Amino acid sequence: MKYKTVIGLEVHVQLASKTKIFCGCRTNFGAEANTQICPVCLGLPGSLPVFNRKVLELSLKAAITLNCTIAETMKFDRKNYFYPDLPKAYQISQFDMPLAVKGYLDIELNGGNKRIEITRVHLEEDAGKLIHTQKESLVDFNRCGTPLIEIVSEPDLNNPEEAYSYLKKLKSILNYLEVSDCNMQEGSLRCDANISLMPQGSNKLGTRAEVKNLNSFKAVKDALTYEVTRQQAELEEGRKIFQETRLWDDTAKKTISMRSKEEAHDYRYFPEPDLPKFLIQTSMINDIKKSLPELGHEKKDRFVKDYSLSEYDADILTSSKAMAEYYERCLKILNEPKEVANWLIGPVLSELKNLNEAFDSIKLDPRELIEMIKLIKENKVNVNTAKEEILPEIIENYKKTADVLKEKDILQVSDEAELSAFIKQVISENEKSINDYQQGKKSAIMYLVGQVMRLSKGKANPKKVKEMLEKKLEN
Ligand SMILES: [Zn+2]
Repeated sequence: MKYKTVIGLEVHVQLASKTKIFCGCRTNFGAEANTQICPVCLGLPGSLPVFNRKVLELSLKAAITLNCTIAETMKFDRKNYFYPDLPKAYQISQFDMPLAVKGYLDIELNGGNKRIEITRVHLEEDAGKLIHTQKESLVDFNRCGTPLIEIVSEPDLNNPEEAYSYLKKLKSILNYLEVSDCNMQEGSLRCDANISLMPQGSNKLGTRAEVKNLNSFKAVKDALTYEVTRQQAELEEGRKIFQETRLWDDTAKKTISMRSKEEAHDYRYFPEPDLPKFLIQTSMINDIKKSLPELGHEKKDRFVKDYSLSEYDADILTSSKAMAEYYERCLKILNEPKEVANWLIGPVLSELKNLNEAFDSIKLDPRELIEMIKLIKENKVNVNTAKEEILPEIIENYKKTADVLKEKDILQVSDEAELSAFIKQVISENEKSINDYQQGKKSAIMYLVGQVMRLSKGKANPKKVKEMLEKKLEN
């Protein structure tokens, strides 16, 4: 490798407050266009912004957890630019006195941990949204004034995989803190990446390109990988890299030059005259520190230790706060950590995937799931019947396990007399397999068990059938 890759990320996070940053308008996603607006977020003359305290709390939670130094005094500034989705022609942001600076985030890589420095965390308002149709361009101002934090990292990331790990960890933290819903499809988490190459051994950073429009973790990885190759080819050919903003085209799988990159001074920042400076009280910071929840990676370590789970299982179970909490609610009813983990990671997750639902929206009562697992343990239904007949009903149709059992004829058959009839028939019809078995090919028994299962329409107790078959064939 002739060049070293240098990547810094700017992540915009929509905070999970019910109302906007400087007015009382709601922030519901998907509301009818221009129904969540008022004179303040439309920037009408004479209206004045009022800072939302909940927004301060949420942003502090994030900044404290990212190990930042919190400002004693912060102020807001106007960032001036014209765009049709920005009715005020400026965005209220923070320039030289942001909420927090100098933090870090430790990421896990295959070769161990790496510390990524965080330059700053600042508050700002979002702009509206343009909707382009074939005939016209429309504007929806609902998103104007939606509270955001921008988390800026130092250029400490050295390849697309590291950028991916950083985002994954950041998202997990914000999810566990409940600072944001982190829904990338709805734009709650947006990422811009600065990327440049420098000759190995050099200490002078190369010219960087900024890549925008990265709407998924995969897009971040793909776009950065593309940029490494593109910039390398440019440098090899002796051409210059331009400081510019490039757009990721997820369909064409390439970045496209959008405009030359503007500098901070182009925006003519100046202090927002309608908002005072804010003193952030130490008592507020301390209260928030005391209220911080257990984070994903902490929960993962505890799951491995307390429940003897593998790293892999613990990683999946703690991949969302909703799933981790659900798991522990199940364990309160049935203390079988491995068994419950297997059900959640396997059949429950794949059932949710079929329904195209995230764990956050699961409506399955943990008691019903445990009820089903108990039926298996008590030999009342077998595993496959539970997976195929019970699980879909209790997840999709919110039925109770006991009701499914009443409605369907699925009770497991363990009665010897009843099973004997099936076994007799299978033995009479499968001479070859029986010979194989008696000549030492012990695996042949599984075929015979399968035949009994088929005859019983899946209801026979497979363990019992195997025992009975073995006894019969030994004689
Ligand atoms: Zn408003």
